[in-house]
Order: sequence, then structure tokens, then C-alpha cells
Amino acid sequence: MSALYVFLRHITALIYPVRCPVCNKIIGATDTFCDKCQSELVKYDSYFTIPQVKKSVAPYVYNDKISPAIFLMKDGIGGNAPYAFGKALAETIKSADIQVDFIVPVPIYSQDQCRRGYNQAELIAKETGRILKIKVRSDIVYKNRKTRPQKELTKSQRKINLKGAFSVNNKSEVADKRILIIDDICTTGSTVAEIADILTKCGADSIFCACACKTVFERKNL
Ligand SMILES: [Zn+2]
Repeated sequence: MSALYVFLRHITALIYPVRCPVCNKIIGATDTFCDKCQSELVKYDSYFTIPQVKKSVAPYVYNDKISPAIFLMKDGIGGNAPYAFGKALAETIKSADIQVDFIVPVPIYSQDQCRRGYNQAELIAKETGRILKIKVRSDIVYKNRKTRPQKELTKSQRKINLKGAFSVNNKSEVADKRILIIDDICTTGSTVAEIADILTKCGADSIFCACACKTVFERKNL
């Protein structure tokens, strides 16, 4: 982290105290979670597989302990959550030796983004990109229609739900590039698989995936 960035976080924290995104306790300006929550979060220590994705990583297992931090972002109150997840992702990506040309955040439908004011995957991606000094390209992949929430669907329904839901802008900028897709939660990986598929069809060299949290126990019908 640059000295200027750390300084600015300290100054901002004087006016808006930094809070743990899980329990809301006030924490240090450059802290991610409070010590107690940090010690209770479950690390995701392996790789997971998604079709057409070279390596997929996540710093945390998705469970009831970490879910308040995810809901904060989905509810429009990001707080310290994007910073906390961005920092954790940056460390995980570094230790997995993932080297890419740019980051693509998983897009949400434009009308949803207008309502919410931002895309939570993009907020996390920007923090990750800033720390790792990798460009974040939110203009490459966009979602062209509304889809049903993935969590309501079975694995096969998820694939149909997303079929053709994403499009690529600037195809020439994708060719021969190593691309990292970033999202907040990864359950079955269907969303990332769909994006990886169109990027591969556009000539990408290789696709990687990093999600803030990975679900470990999935429903039996998935
Ligand atoms: Zn806490």
C-alpha cells in the first residue's frame, strides 16, 4: 500500500471511523476485520474448478460468520467490506502466483446497478487492482438482460438462466490476454463459467477467477 493511501485512510478514519464489516466494531484505519472476527473467519485453502478457467481461488469460505459483510455490500452500504475483501483477494492472488493483464469484475444488469448505485464485484475488484497494480476493466463484459437470482435455481437451471446473458465489448482488447474474473461469492461457478466461455470465444489467452468467498456445502439438488 502506498504511504499516501495509508495517510488518507487515517485522515478519513478521523471523520468516519472504520468499522469491522462483520460485527460493526470500530477498528484501525488500515484494518480489514476486527481481531475476533478475523480469527473466526474460515480460510479457503485450496483451488476450485470452473470450466475454461485455469485457476480459481478464494480467501474465505462463505458461511454465516462472513455473510454480514457480503450483505452490507448488496444492501448498498459498502463500508469497509470492499477494502477488507480486496486486500484478502490481493494476498490470495499473489500467493497463487496468478499473473494477468487486467481484471474483469462480474457485471450486474445496468438497471440493477442504477438502483443499487454500484456493482459490489467492481468495488472489490477496484481495491484488489489498486493493491496489485492491475487495471480493472469494467467496460469489457456487460450483462445484457435481467436473470433470475442464481440461488433460487438448481445447477442445470443456473446454466440456462445465464445462457447468452453476457456480452463482450472491445473484442480486440480481449484477444491473447490473460484475464482475472472477480466476484463476491462463488457457489457453483456457473456465472464465471459463462463469462469465461465468451472471453475464450473472443480469443483470450487464459482466464483466472478470484472470489471473495466460496461456498463449500452446496444444496443436494445443485
Ligand atoms: Zn468484527
